[in-house]
Amino acid sequence: MRIVLTGPPGAGKGTQAVHLAACLSVQHISAGDLLREHVDQGSALGRNARTHMLAGLLVPDRLTIEVVEERLARPDTVRGFLLDGFPRNLVQAEALDGILAASGSELDAVLDLEIPEAEVVRRVAGRRLCSQDRRHIFHVAYSPPEVAGRCDVCGGELYQRDDDLEATVRRRLEVYRSETAPVVGHYRAQGLLTTVSALGGVQEILDRALAAVGRGQDESQDRDEAPDPSGS
Ligand code: AMP
Repeated sequence: MRIVLTGPPGAGKGTQAVHLAACLSVQHISAGDLLREHVDQGSALGRNARTHMLAGLLVPDRLTIEVVEERLARPDTVRGFLLDGFPRNLVQAEALDGILAASGSELDAVLDLEIPEAEVVRRVAGRRLCSQDRRHIFHVAYSPPEVAGRCDVCGGELYQRDDDLEATVRRRLEVYRSETAPVVGHYRAQGLLTTVSALGGVQEILDRALAAVGRGQDESQDRDEAPDPSGS
């Protein structure tokens, strides 16, 4: 199954993507994580990407498309993938159409997580990630760790993403409205789009997302393995 997961920052894409990909036995591919890997490695691409990420802006299409295309070419995506945070504008959406067409494949579904903007700022500004595994996500108010500043899953130190500061979150929302929202129309026109409410608990949202891709509850086995929602 090939799925795109979209929605504003703070809709819970990262959290839902991890669960959904596990339930559907497909690779979770996060454009943001791929870019952060380059930033951590200090590659030329990473240094360039970092300045845009810190400003809450989109990384230039050429760089983002390059890292996603390279990732999609790896053999572990043959059984399918769940793309999280890509495409984020129409240029990227058309690039993805081209990449898939070239390999003779196509998307099965696009899920758009929907959430009011006031809730976005609350969720993102309180989000904390584990420094040892960024998939372990907490929230200072909604899902605090048992020991302050420590990951419940592996004991790693929790940190706040540089681009989760409130001013940057507001900028990311503006970018979402102007650049990413049109992607929804692109997929609606292709008959692929389903809107999923991102309000409620992790399991509730996961059930809606699974229903939207035609999968029932028995696929949702990993429901208790990750920490609670925090809006990544
Ligand atoms: P995320 O982890 O999805 O919240 O993305 C964090 C940041 O990475 C974004 O604010 C952008 O600066 C950058 N980024 C992630 N995905 C993309 C994309 N598809 N196109 C351009 N920039 C992206």
